[in-house]
Amino acid sequence: MRDETKCLHAGYTPKNGEPRVLPIVQSTTYVYDSAAEVAAIFDDPTKGLCYSRFGNPTVMAVEEKIAALEGGVGAMCTTSGQAATLLSILNICEAGDSIISVPQIYGGTINLFSFTLKKLGIECIYVDAASSDEEIKAAFKPNTKLVFGETLANPALVVFDIERFANIAHEMNVPLIVDNTFATPILCKPFEFGADIVVHSTSKYMDGHAVQIGGVIVDSGKFDWTNGKFPGLTEPDESYHGISYTESYGNMAYIIKARMQLMRDFGVYPAAHSAFLLNMGLETLPVRMKQYCENAMTVAKYLEASPAVEKVNYPGLESDVCHALAEKYLKGCSGVISFIIKGGRPAAAKFMDSLHLASNEVHVADIRTCVLHPASETHRQLTDEQLVAAGIDGGMIRISVGLENIDDIIEDLEAAFAAVMKEF
Ligand SMILES: *Cc1c(COP(=O)(O)O)cnc(C)c1O
Repeated sequence: MRDETKCLHAGYTPKNGEPRVLPIVQSTTYVYDSAAEVAAIFDDPTKGLCYSRFGNPTVMAVEEKIAALEGGVGAMCTTSGQAATLLSILNICEAGDSIISVPQIYGGTINLFSFTLKKLGIECIYVDAASSDEEIKAAFKPNTKLVFGETLANPALVVFDIERFANIAHEMNVPLIVDNTFATPILCKPFEFGADIVVHSTSKYMDGHAVQIGGVIVDSGKFDWTNGKFPGLTEPDESYHGISYTESYGNMAYIIKARMQLMRDFGVYPAAHSAFLLNMGLETLPVRMKQYCENAMTVAKYLEASPAVEKVNYPGLESDVCHALAEKYLKGCSGVISFIIKGGRPAAAKFMDSLHLASNEVHVADIRTCVLHPASETHRQLTDEQLVAAGIDGGMIRISVGLENIDDIIEDLEAAFAAVMKEF
C-alpha cells in the first residue's frame, strides 16, 4: 500500500459484519475465562490485552497505522509529544548517561533536555549541526547513549541532516532518534535515511484539527541493541521476572520494552477516544500535507518579496540555507514558515495584533492559519544565548499556514503589514 491507502486502511480491517469505521473501545479492562489466561498475559503482555494502561484496541490500530506509514516494526502512542520524547530516551538511558542533540529543536524539548533530564542525572551535550563529523564525534563520551535531532526544526525551520548524523551515531554504536513532527511520514520517512527511532507530537499535522494532544514513538527495528552498550535491553529485567527484551522479542525489543516497562510505570497511555480522533486526522493527512505545502510556498514567496521582512526561513525557498537538505529529505516543507520582521519585538507584536483571519495561538500545524511569537511564548524560558542557538530572533514570527483560500491568507497578511508600516 502507498501512503494515501495506508492512511485509510492500515491498522484496522473490519471482518464480515463489523463496523466500517474504527470503533472506540471505551473500556479499561478485558475479560478472560480463567486466571491462568490472565497470568499468561502478565508473563508476556504481547499475548493479549489486560488493562488499558498497556494497550487498547482503538489506540493499537492507530499505532499500527503510524508504524506502517513510517516503515517501522511497531509504535506506541503516548498522551503527548513530550511524553513520547521523554520515554524514547528513558527507554535506553539512566542516571549517569549522556545524550547528544543538536540545539535546533522544539523549545519544550530543550527544557526537557537541559533541565529535567539533568535533574534525573542524564546530561545533554549539544553539538551544532554545522560542526564537522570529527567535532561531533569528539563530543561523545563513553556514557553517550543516543543522538537526537528534529527533521524540520520548530520554529527555526532548519532541516536536519539525518543521514550524516545516523552514520556518525552508528559509528559510535548508538541509535539516532528523530522528531519527525513537522514533516510527518508523508513528507519524510527518517528510517529511509538511517534513523533508528522516530518520535512525533501527533498534536500537530497528524491530528490536524487542534482537537487532542498526543505523541507516538516508532521503532525501525533495525538497531542492534546487543552491542554491549544497552544492558537494559539485553540483560534480565528483574521487574519482569528476568526477561531479556532482545532475547524474547528480537527486533521489537525497544518498542516492547517501552510498553512493558515505561508505560507500566509512567502510565501515559492515551484514551481510546483521543486515538479515534487522531485516526480521523490521519485519514486525510496526505491530502492536507500537499495543500499546506502549496499554500505555505505561496506565503513564503510573498514574505520574501515584502519590504517589511528582513528574513524568511522556509526551506522550500531556493534562497534558504537549507534548500539543498530539503531537496534531499523532504517531499514538501510543511505549512510552517518563520520570518523576521523589520523593527524587532515591537513590530512583531503590532503585526500579530493586526491580523484578523490568522489567530494568535499557542499551536502550530492547525488546519486554520495561526501565528506565534517564539521569543515571548514557546521559547520564553530560554536564555538569550539559547535563543540564538535555537535560531530565534526577537522579531521572529512563526506562521503556520492553514487550509483557507490562499488569497484570503495573503490579504490578511497584507493588511497587517500595512498597519506595521504606518508605525515603523
Ligand atoms: C509540539 C511539539 C512537541 C511536543 O508535543 P506535545 O504534543 O505538545 O507534547 C515536540 N516536538 C515538536 C517538534 C513539536 O512541535
